[in-house]
Amino acid sequence: MESLAKIALRVAECSDCSLHRSRTKPVPGEGNNSAEIMLIGEGPGAKEDQEGRPFVGSAGQFLDQLLNSIGLNRLDVFIANMVKCRPPNNRDPFPEELQACSKYLDKQIELVNPLLIVTLGRFSLSRFFPGETMGMARGKLRQYKSRYIFPIMHPAAALYRPQNKITIMDDFGVIPEILSTLRNTSDINVASPFDESSPPEQLSLF
Ligand code: URA
Ligand code: SF4
Repeated sequence: MESLAKIALRVAECSDCSLHRSRTKPVPGEGNNSAEIMLIGEGPGAKEDQEGRPFVGSAGQFLDQLLNSIGLNRLDVFIANMVKCRPPNNRDPFPEELQACSKYLDKQIELVNPLLIVTLGRFSLSRFFPGETMGMARGKLRQYKSRYIFPIMHPAAALYRPQNKITIMDDFGVIPEILSTLRNTSDINVASPFDESSPPEQLSLF
């Protein structure tokens, strides 16, 4: 039986893409194993690579603030990334690296089975909605197969543009309302919450 702890062990031994060569520590992801909310970022930065933990640098401080603003902290959620090892100099992950690493995230989603997935930035947005721009997608609750996805900008974008900070805070502030809607929505397919094999449906709910 696969578990989140086993996934972390597999990640620690993984050499399935070239990122394993430059990493200090792998960053498998962490948090509440049965969280209602799963946050998906891009990949570890310098501090995450040193500590082996997601979002512990300056973008992470802002993420903590965002969580606090809706009465949560990082123990309430599960935080993962598209790639588990730091891309050198924080470059964008390459398609083959995203592809090689996606099996771990797929499994984490299945095991945590969150009610809501919040994608942070364009790389996790494209896992669900390839080809869509952040401008189009952000701040709208969407359905992808049996999953509910709420795309927002990456918290690091707030660090270099004040307007982004406002946008991210506004989008994040809608999460409690989304959660209560999802908790009360009878048409959520709770009978087969792990099933991602049904045909893609991309409803805009909010
Ligand atoms: N940015 C990310 O996308 N992930 C992290 O873990 C840290 C910064
Ligand atoms: Fe393996 Fe993912 Fe790290 Fe690449 S980024 S070595 S696929 S764990």
